[in-house]
Amino acid sequence: MAESNFIDYVKIYCRSGKGGRGSAHMHRAKYMPKGGPDGGNGGRGGHVILRGNRNYWTLLHLRYDRHIHAEHGSNGSKNKSTGKQGADKYIEVPCGTVVYNAETGEYICDVTEHGQEVILLRGGRGGLGNFNFCTPTNQAPRYAQPGEPMQELSVIMELKLLADVGLVGFPNAGKSTLVSALSSAKPKIANYPFTTLEPSLGIVPYHDGRSFVMADIPGIIEGASQGKGLGLRFLRHIERNSLLLFMVPGDTDDIKREYEILLNELATFNPELLDKGRVLAATKCDLLDEELIQMLKETLPEGLPVVFISSVTGYGINELKDILWTEMNSESNKLATISTNESIVHQSKDFSRLQIELEEEGEDEEFDFIDEENIEDFEDIEELEDFEYEDEE
Ligand code: GDP
Ligand code: MG
Repeated sequence: MAESNFIDYVKIYCRSGKGGRGSAHMHRAKYMPKGGPDGGNGGRGGHVILRGNRNYWTLLHLRYDRHIHAEHGSNGSKNKSTGKQGADKYIEVPCGTVVYNAETGEYICDVTEHGQEVILLRGGRGGLGNFNFCTPTNQAPRYAQPGEPMQELSVIMELKLLADVGLVGFPNAGKSTLVSALSSAKPKIANYPFTTLEPSLGIVPYHDGRSFVMADIPGIIEGASQGKGLGLRFLRHIERNSLLLFMVPGDTDDIKREYEILLNELATFNPELLDKGRVLAATKCDLLDEELIQMLKETLPEGLPVVFISSVTGYGINELKDILWTEMNSESNKLATISTNESIVHQSKDFSRLQIELEEEGEDEEFDFIDEENIEDFEDIEELEDFEYEDEE
């Protein structure tokens, strides 16, 4: 696996539906003393199907539903009536979910696209009813097929996950406090290369079981742009956050100025960071009175949403979540993450930028859009073999 991915994972037991039995019914009628075979076929059992859904950013919703059963098919019955098909069971997963067999560890599939469906387990086929077995020599077969059995499987789903919201602020801005106030779960961090300072990730629940990931990345500002210590490595990660939440204490002398200093720090490191979506939170507003908040609102930086919050009292927190969600889902801020077997490919929405993490080199390389002309550049990258590019429309 490529280095340093934030991994969220969940283990789930899945079972498809068994096929319904075929019926061996004999039709009885006055004028047909011996009747005739009229047993219908059994219905198919339900499949278990994975479906990519861009409204999910984590696997959190599956933590509460770890046994997933599709419906059984119904048995066939008289008058050649076919049994009802068992309902398929859909498992909605975020794009970037990788599925493994929990027993063997074997790779099963990747769900990378919104709307992509993968049948994880097939429902059993329904058995044939006896009328199918009529032959000239046996006009009244008294047998029918049983339905096919169900299938079961325990799977592990992993999300190759990049934080959706990265926090940017000086020490004591209230970053850690916000993450713990908002988050319901701490995703597992696998293979994180920074052992002394771990970024703290929080999964933030939103409406309707949706959620997003917030990363409190310590040391991002202090000396980060000079490449000191871990800051630089951390910044590499924040480069992929889809949104930056700037945090400035509400009781700071000049919120606008402090915001500009933060912005400058980031720009020194990598001006591209300024292309990201930005939201500003004035924190610790429980220390301010409403009158002061109104006054401060006159002096804020322009061109980005600003929210006054308090992680202690919950003031402004719902508003903050709404704004983050809206900004995160705005077309310009989306960065799709596609994980392949060997590498993680980050692809911006408009395919103009493709970023590939190479396992060996540990280097990030950026390429322009792949087309006929530069395709050779990619041929020595084995990892790309299985990866299919969508045609540009
Ligand atoms: P970080 O360095 O940005 O992670 O900041 P912390 O979350 O560690 O917070 C720094 C200090 O500010 C701590 O003493 C917190 O208790 C305090 N703090 C954080 N959020 C709030 C808040 O909403 N209101 C108040 N009054 N204090 C806060
Ligand atoms: Mg902190």
